[in-house]
Amino acid sequence: MTREARRAWLSLGANLGDPVAMLREAVRRIQATEGVTLVAESSLWRTSPVDSFGPEYVNAALALETVLKPMELLAAMQAIENDCGRVRPAGVHNAPRTLDIDILAFEGVTIGDPRLTLPHPRMNERLFVLVPLSEIEPGWKSPAGVPVRELIETVREKDPTQRIERI
Ligand code: ADP
Ligand code: MG
Repeated sequence: MTREARRAWLSLGANLGDPVAMLREAVRRIQATEGVTLVAESSLWRTSPVDSFGPEYVNAALALETVLKPMELLAAMQAIENDCGRVRPAGVHNAPRTLDIDILAFEGVTIGDPRLTLPHPRMNERLFVLVPLSEIEPGWKSPAGVPVRELIETVREKDPTQRIERI
């Protein structure tokens, strides 16, 4: 049985060790994942930690075509996080990490499961997600129909402490 390819969007982040090298390695591994084709890759962006701590982050967004189901894609991305040496300190929420891969959205899919919530519930409050995403998908709209440019403006007004610059 052949499955139809669908579009999915990822957010990548790292803030420990050599984050630029880590993100490049992550992109290489994502491209090498069976059933996944990379269709767009943002620049790398340096960002201030949001709801987290530690050194500055490096973030990027990717667009994929994939025949994997959403949960299969999540498992494949978590395997890459683990292979890249992510540690999850017990009891520490949003700890600094070597690599974080989040699925922002998956074409045609809405899920409320805590193991996989789609679209990602916090993406609209985060410049480190919205700015790289707007670079690869300038026509992006939230499920409520708000253009990504407006989402970015709203975050900038509400939370001027979030900083982001292209590397
Ligand atoms: P963060 O919220 O900082 O990304 P983690 O990467 O440790 O924290 O993710 C915590 C949990 O979030 C994971 O175990 C995963 O199952 C769950 N999760 C829920 N929705 C998503 C999503 N859209 N993308 C990635 N992980 C998700
Ligand atoms: Mg995550």
